[in-house]
Amino acid sequence: MIEYVAGVDIGNATTETALGQIEDGKLLTCVSGISPTTGLKGTNDNIAGIVKSLKNAAEKMKIEIEAIDLIRINEATPVIGDFAMETITETIITESTLIGHNPDTPGGTGLGIGRTILIEDLDKADENEDYIVVVPGTVDFIDAAAAINRALERNISIQGAILQKDDGVLINNRINTTIPIVDEVESIGRVPIGMTSAVEVAQPGACIESLSNPYGIATVFNLSASETKQIVHIAKALIGNRSAVVIKTPAGEVKERKIPAGQIILHSGERIYTAEVDSGSKEIMNTVRKAGGIDNVTGSRGTNVGGMLEKVRQNMAKLTEQKYNTVFIKDIMAVDTIVPKEVQGNLAREFAMEKAVGIAAMVKTEKLHMRRLAAKVSEELGIPVEIGGVEGSMAVRGALTTPGTEKPLLVLDIGAGSTDACLLYKNNETKPIHLAGAGNMVTMLINAELGLDDFELAEDIKKYPLAKVESLYHIRHEDGSVEFFNEAIDSSMFARTVVIKPSGWEIIRSKQTMEKIRQVRRDAKDKVLISNIIRALERVSVTGNITEFEHVVLVGGSSLDFELGNMVTESLTYYGIVSGKANIRSTEGPRNAVATGLLYTYLEEVQND
Ligand code: ADP
Ligand code: MG
Repeated sequence: MIEYVAGVDIGNATTETALGQIEDGKLLTCVSGISPTTGLKGTNDNIAGIVKSLKNAAEKMKIEIEAIDLIRINEATPVIGDFAMETITETIITESTLIGHNPDTPGGTGLGIGRTILIEDLDKADENEDYIVVVPGTVDFIDAAAAINRALERNISIQGAILQKDDGVLINNRINTTIPIVDEVESIGRVPIGMTSAVEVAQPGACIESLSNPYGIATVFNLSASETKQIVHIAKALIGNRSAVVIKTPAGEVKERKIPAGQIILHSGERIYTAEVDSGSKEIMNTVRKAGGIDNVTGSRGTNVGGMLEKVRQNMAKLTEQKYNTVFIKDIMAVDTIVPKEVQGNLAREFAMEKAVGIAAMVKTEKLHMRRLAAKVSEELGIPVEIGGVEGSMAVRGALTTPGTEKPLLVLDIGAGSTDACLLYKNNETKPIHLAGAGNMVTMLINAELGLDDFELAEDIKKYPLAKVESLYHIRHEDGSVEFFNEAIDSSMFARTVVIKPSGWEIIRSKQTMEKIRQVRRDAKDKVLISNIIRALERVSVTGNITEFEHVVLVGGSSLDFELGNMVTESLTYYGIVSGKANIRSTEGPRNAVATGLLYTYLEEVQND
């Protein structure tokens, strides 16, 4: 007798189906189905997604949903992840002072040093002095160029210019000398007049050299060793700029200030462990390791991190319709990051790269109402629905269908909100653990570090490789290879970095180079996914020595990642561990592990009967 049985895995992000055609307990064929999860895992809202996923599989099997004899869903682990970000430094300018600036199209080139003078005062300029001309937006570029040329004729030494408007190139083309011109300085009124200043503009495609070097600035302004120490972070902020202005005022200063970020408090049994947020992720994670089994995580009252962790719990409570005081954070993952933030008291919307800590939290809620959901699905579809088994063990069972694997085996299910690991011993016992931090955290880091403010775009940058459109007929892929086209590429993409999506190319509107974007992407994966894999190994290890594992198999959506497999292999071969993406049923790659596990355990049960 032929029967059709479906294993359905309802994840936080994706609902997957493994549909088998079975004859006398033997699997004849098996197909997969997939759909985004609808609603929060464990609620009746899931049904739409379940039906869609089943339909997807049924179509491939060329049957109607009604032909399915049995559906098995998983006892889902009630684990949800969330994340937030905390900036821990801010750059402040008190009065106007030493400041870097990076407009798109500065004019001229070179390094100019002189006293700042307003353009309307050029007539009163002194022959024995070097000047940097300051041009407010009220002065037209033609008048400004004429005034500069008049002064040059009178032998006034003009070494550079600072403009409010985007006129750098226009003025450069009209004056009888080549000087560095920095434009788009919005708050030009804050530029102090009569002060020594330096303006540097590099050739197109090059970066400034003097003002991005602390000793270069020291040379320009005659700074002492202790003064030089104070301006190091200005020089650092200017590295990679094509242009910059640095002005020295007697009173003002640029400071990097640490924002009091508060403490993270880990509750573990009778004990309490604390970590200062502004000491960075390393200390936080060391404390997490020390704390061992965590009952809850809070932040010190009145601080940002305190508010942030409370918000995570409140969100989770609301989503899962539970009382706030019954929702606990069971694990956190912290990563260091740097994010672009506007400088306080800036002249032209300058950004400084501020230090920040990203924190992912994993919340275990009460048991999900999977039985209630099973009954509801059965009622709606008129098909018997059973709870097949717990998520972790099912993932392991599915992962074992990967050719070349054997017990003992560690399976890592890397999803959107959490990384779930399950160890399968030789005697078939399993040991599951859940860690905060997974795919969403990677996307958040990419989004923040590139200053994109666009989660969808960050998601695409995470998933697909980059290329640079170098001409209208060729692109350079991030691996250096060149691809030519017979038809002209859309000119709006010219000279842009694009994401090569299967559905087409997407422009990344960022000033960052392709190399930089790639680096941010890889670093984010390393900081979150690789760290979590190592952390999972440490947790499930009996000896504390992760070399006790031989096989580590990756499943889940984030394992689809095009470069993660190699990154993992690189970091784990060091420990003598064989690792890589699963290939479920030899065909599905890392997808469908839990669903396949549900179907296969059913088969084992009927065979044993
Ligand atoms: P869940 O088990 O919670 O339903 P999934 O296993 O579906 O989650 O994983 C969802 C995660 O997988 C998301 O963070 C998503 O960005 C990520 N993901 C999906 N496809 C890819 C891909 N091709 N490359 C990298 N990450 C991916
Ligand atoms: Mg999953």
